[in-house]
Amino acid sequence: MSKFWSPFVRDLEPYVPGEQPKMANLVKLNTNEHPLGPSPKVLDAIRAQADDRLRLYPDPRSTELCEAIADYYRVKPEQVFVGNGSDEVLAHIFMGLFRQSRPLLFPDITYSFYKVYCGLYGIDYQTVPLGQGDLSIRLTDYDAVNGGIIFPNPNAPTGRLLPLADIEALLRRNTESVVVVDEAYIDFGGDSAIALIDRYPNLLVTQTLSKSRSLAGLRIGLAVGDEALIEGLTRIKDSFNSYPLDRLAVAAGKAAFEDDAWFRQGRDQVMEQRDWLTGQLAERGFDTLPSAANFVFTRHPDHRGADLARGLREQGVIVRHFGKPERIADYLRITIGNAKQNQTLVAALDRLL
Ligand SMILES: *Cc1c(COP(=O)(O)O)cnc(C)c1O
Repeated sequence: MSKFWSPFVRDLEPYVPGEQPKMANLVKLNTNEHPLGPSPKVLDAIRAQADDRLRLYPDPRSTELCEAIADYYRVKPEQVFVGNGSDEVLAHIFMGLFRQSRPLLFPDITYSFYKVYCGLYGIDYQTVPLGQGDLSIRLTDYDAVNGGIIFPNPNAPTGRLLPLADIEALLRRNTESVVVVDEAYIDFGGDSAIALIDRYPNLLVTQTLSKSRSLAGLRIGLAVGDEALIEGLTRIKDSFNSYPLDRLAVAAGKAAFEDDAWFRQGRDQVMEQRDWLTGQLAERGFDTLPSAANFVFTRHPDHRGADLARGLREQGVIVRHFGKPERIADYLRITIGNAKQNQTLVAALDRLL
C-alpha cells in the first residue's frame, strides 16, 4: 500500500496465477501447460527472426499471423484479432464491449479472471450458478436482461463441454448483446463456435496458443468474430499498446498454425492420456467430471481436496486446488501431463489413499 497509488488500486482484487515453482524435478500439473514442446518449425521461425531487424518495431496489426489464422479457420483476416495472450484479448473485450449499463453474465464457477476484469473496468456483473449436481453450464439460465455474456467452452475448471447447438440456440435468443465463447481448451475435443460467426454478428470467439499449441511462454491469444467487433477491439488496442505482439511471436504463431501435423499429434497424445488418467482415477474411487480439456476435475469421496493437494505436493507433484467456493473445495484440477508424469501422479495418489 502506498499513498502514491491511484485511489482505486487499493480495492482491486487481482487474479492469482497458478504457481510457477523454481524447483526442478517437480511434476507440474497445475497450470494446464502442454506436456510436449512446440513444433520444431516454430523454433526455427523464432531463430530466423532473431537478427538485426529487432531494432525495428513489429507490424502493429500482426498481419501475417492474422492471415495464417484466417486461412486456418477459413475466415477473413479482418475477422481476426490477436493480442499478448488471450488474457489481454479478454481485457480489451471487457473494456471495449462489456462496459454497458446492463450487467454482464457469466457462470459462478469459471475462469476467475472474468471477475477481476469487471473490478478493473468497473463492470456490473451477475454470476449464474452451474447446475447443482453435475456442475454444467445451462445456457437457458442466461435468458435474462444483460449487457453481455461470457463463458469458456469447455468450462474451466470443470472441463465440461457444451454442444455447439446449445450455443447457437442461445445466439438465436440473445441478439442484443455480445456473446463471448472463451475457447482456451476447445482443441482437446470440442467444435469451435468460429463456424457460427458469419451468422451471428454479436458472437466473438477467443482462443489461445498457450494450451493446445504449447506456447504459453510466448503469449499469443486471438479473437475471431464479425469485422465490426474486431474493429472495436483494434480501437482499444491502439489506445493501449500498438505493438502487443513482437516479431518473434508473430513468426512463431504463424508457424504454429501452419504445422498442423505437429498440433494434431500433440493434441491426440493429450487426449489419450486423459482417457488413461480418467480410468486410473475411477479405479481408485475418484469421481471425475467428463472433460473435453487438457485437465480433469476430480474428487475422492473419502478425502479432502486440500489434504490430497498437500500430500501430492510433499511428493513433488503440483496440482491446482481451489479452496473456494465450498461446492468445489474437494475437487482437484489436474493438468494432463505426459505418460511418465501421469504415472508418477497415480503412484503418488496410491501412497496417499
Ligand atoms: C488459460 C486460459 C486463458 C488465458 O490464456 P493465455 O492466452 O495464456 O492468456 C483464457 N481463458 C481460459 C479459460 C484459460 O484457461
